[in-house]
Amino acid sequence: MKIEHIELFKVDRPLESPFRIAVATRDKYEGVFVKIVTDDGLVGWGESAPSYRLTRETTASVIEELTRVKPSLIGKDPCDITHILTNLDLSPAALTGVETALWDITAQSLGTPLYRVFGSTRNEFDTSITIGIKSLDEVARHAEKLVNEGVSIIKLKIGVNPEEDIERVKLVRSIAANARIRVDGNLGYTVDEAIRVARGIEKYDIEFFEEPVAGLGNLKKLRKSIGIKVMADESVKTLNEAITAIREKAVDYVNLKLQKMGGITRTRIICDVLADAGIPCMIGGFSETLIAMTVAAHLKVAHPNIEFADLDAHIGIVDPPVVGGFTLKGSHAILPDTPGLGAKGSP
Ligand SMILES: [Mg+2]
Repeated sequence: MKIEHIELFKVDRPLESPFRIAVATRDKYEGVFVKIVTDDGLVGWGESAPSYRLTRETTASVIEELTRVKPSLIGKDPCDITHILTNLDLSPAALTGVETALWDITAQSLGTPLYRVFGSTRNEFDTSITIGIKSLDEVARHAEKLVNEGVSIIKLKIGVNPEEDIERVKLVRSIAANARIRVDGNLGYTVDEAIRVARGIEKYDIEFFEEPVAGLGNLKKLRKSIGIKVMADESVKTLNEAITAIREKAVDYVNLKLQKMGGITRTRIICDVLADAGIPCMIGGFSETLIAMTVAAHLKVAHPNIEFADLDAHIGIVDPPVVGGFTLKGSHAILPDTPGLGAKGSP
C-alpha cells in the first residue's frame, strides 16, 4: 500500500459562545484537517489544531509546513509510521495531523478500531466537562445544566481574581455536590495568590490544581505549600520538560496534549517516562474537533498511566465538519467500534 495523495483543509468555525480562560478569550475554532489517500482506496483523517500561545504555530504555518513535506510522503507505505516519523521535521500540531491520518489508515488496513492497534480492548472512559471563566450567575447556570445532563466530572477555569475564584469553586461544589471537581488556573496567579486560592478551596474536595502559576520552579514552590495535588500543563510540552518536572519533583500530575507534544508516538513516550517516575497523566486538548479529540481518546483507553481525561474541546464548535467520533453522555464517552479512528472530516 502506498500514499497516493494528501489534501489539506483549513477549517474555521465560530464557537457558540466565547470561551474565556485566565490568559485568553477564544471565539472561534481554527484548524487544518489532513486527508491521506492510499492507492488501495483507504482514506485516513487527522487534525492539526495549533495553539499559538503554546507552540507558536498557526493554521498558516501548519499548512506551509505540511505543504513542504507532502512530496516526501507520496509513495511511502502509510503503515511504516515509525520510519516515516523519524524523517519528518514538523512542529507539534502539524506532526499530529499527519500521524493521526497514518494511524487511521493502519488500523483500517487491519480492520480494527485504533485502540486495539494501540494494545487495548477498552473503549469507554470518563471525561471532565469544562466551565470557562464567566460571571458567578453564569457559572451557576452552567453547573446546573451539567448536573442535569449527568456530568460527574467538572473542570472549572479560574485564575483571574483569587477571592472571586474561591467563590466560583464554592458555588460549583454547592450545585454539584457529588461531582469530581478539578480547577485550572492557566498561569493566572502569582505563587502567593495561588497558595491563597488553594487554601480557600481545599475544603471543597478538589482533585487537582492545574498550572495556576507559570513555570516548573513556581509549580514546585506551590506544591510544597498546599494540600491539593498540582498538575503541569503549559510547562510540560516536551520530553525534556517532563524530565525536568520529574527531577525537580515539581508536580503531581501532567496534562498531555497531542497538539503540544507532537502526536501519538511522542506523547506515549513522554507518558511512559512519567509513568516510570510515578507521575500519572491527564489527556486534554486545545480547541479541537472530534477528529483530534477521538485520537486522544483512543490513546486514553490504551495507556494505563493516563488516569484522567479532559476531552471535551469539541463542545461548542458550531457545525463542525466531522462525521463520527466518540459519543458522550454526561461524562461518559464510548469510542466507535468501526475500523480506524472512527471519525472523519466532511469539509
Ligand atoms: Mg490547562
